[in-house]
Amino acid sequence: MGTDVNVAIVGAGQAGLATSRHLKQAGIEHVVLEAGRIAETWRSRRWDSFCLVTPNWTVQLPGGRYAGPEPDGFMGRDELVSHFERWADSFSPAIRDRCAVSALDVEPDSFVLATAGGPVRARSVVVASGGYQRPFIPPAAGSMPKGIHQLLAEEYRHERALPPGAILVVGSGQTGCQLAEELHEAGRDVFLACGRAPWAPRRMGGHDLVWWMVESGFWSRTIAQLPSPAARLLSNPLATGHGGGHDMHYRTLHAGGVELLGRLTGVEDGVAHFADDLPASIEFGDNLARTFMRWVEAFCTTRGLSVPWEVPGPPGFGSRTSLDLRKEGITNVIWTSGYRPDYGWVHAPVFDAMGFPIQTDGRSDVPGLYFMGVHFQRKAQSAVLYGVGEDAEVVAEHISEHRS
Ligand SMILES: Cc1cc2nc3c(=O)[nH]c(=O)nc-3n(C[C@H](O)[C@H](O)[C@H](O)COP(=O)(O)OP(=O)(O)OC[C@H]3O[C@@H](n4cnc5c(N)ncnc54)[C@H](O)[C@@H]3O)c2cc1C
Repeated sequence: MGTDVNVAIVGAGQAGLATSRHLKQAGIEHVVLEAGRIAETWRSRRWDSFCLVTPNWTVQLPGGRYAGPEPDGFMGRDELVSHFERWADSFSPAIRDRCAVSALDVEPDSFVLATAGGPVRARSVVVASGGYQRPFIPPAAGSMPKGIHQLLAEEYRHERALPPGAILVVGSGQTGCQLAEELHEAGRDVFLACGRAPWAPRRMGGHDLVWWMVESGFWSRTIAQLPSPAARLLSNPLATGHGGGHDMHYRTLHAGGVELLGRLTGVEDGVAHFADDLPASIEFGDNLARTFMRWVEAFCTTRGLSVPWEVPGPPGFGSRTSLDLRKEGITNVIWTSGYRPDYGWVHAPVFDAMGFPIQTDGRSDVPGLYFMGVHFQRKAQSAVLYGVGEDAEVVAEHISEHRS
């Protein structure tokens, strides 16, 4: 038994729902096919004490802006999920939940989406299945000694669920650093294998970091303004919203007692080896902090503002290059080494060598096939709560014109 629809949206996260909201406003019939429930990623792939890194005012979903009492606060996971539920209730999207799409095939003038409930045929499809899909796990994971409890960041829920002992966090993007800080605060010994990540102070000149990113145009950068398309894989600037928000980066973690290490290069006979590259990684992050500050300073010049902040000098600490896991009491490893796109179920030649959709303003080269929520889809802000609405409007407008 099949179903025919005009437009099928795959995914009921912010990207899919924002597109649905705009299509509904344009009077275009559509259905949202969701593998889990609304906001499933926020529900089931975030830890219990997770809170936004971006302030609440950045929740600028179309028809679902944050209007609560703490615009400068950082809402927790459950509050954010409730926000999504209220937002969806406000425009009642036609959602088929628990309806995973296992394949998308292109046919002349239509698309066929395979679901457990039967095929869905659509004239247009918006793939909004998430920008952070497949966790990247370094090959060293296979050589960890038996008995070490290994888990992905998205599987971690709370500190009490981890076996007693020290914790090695591998990967130092926003999530890795946040987990390292929170686990250390919970009384665990924490080691953090660091890669290259940008950072910035949480507040400058009385404003939050994200305010500066928006106002200076840093979040409006396009992919053409990056040094290379691979730069999309870099993490967002290190910072946390925990406890009302504060600075969180390699220097603060080191000062707080987290042991920083270089990149994990391998594990042999119970000994983990790390590159001697921590100083170079810190310098890399400092250089990106300088790049960001140049945007801030240029913006300040146009507004007659000044920001009394500059990147500090070299940190003056190094790192060990090997750890005997048993001697250090390490019983847990959390892998938080970034994500890669995973569109293997989309059977169309519209992906680049890194697996990112090739698209312009969300449109692929296959007429009627659109993407939403892609990191740097149109701008740096495309895949976050602040910027997704703008892209959804553009995609919905094109669908509307394409169909008329
Ligand atoms: C750890 C972490 C923290 C973040 N913190 C912030 C933050 O503080 N502020 C901010 O603005 N952004 C943040 N982001 C970035 C971004 O806002 C989130 O990744 C957000 O979830 C992206 O929304 P999305 O709708 O594109 O994708 P998702 O939220 O992942 O939604 C995709 C949906 O598609 C469904 N789906 C996937 N495949 C299929 C399929 N084949 N068939 C049917 N359904 C499918 C999934 O179940 C999911 O519900 C964070 C990202 C991560 C990873």
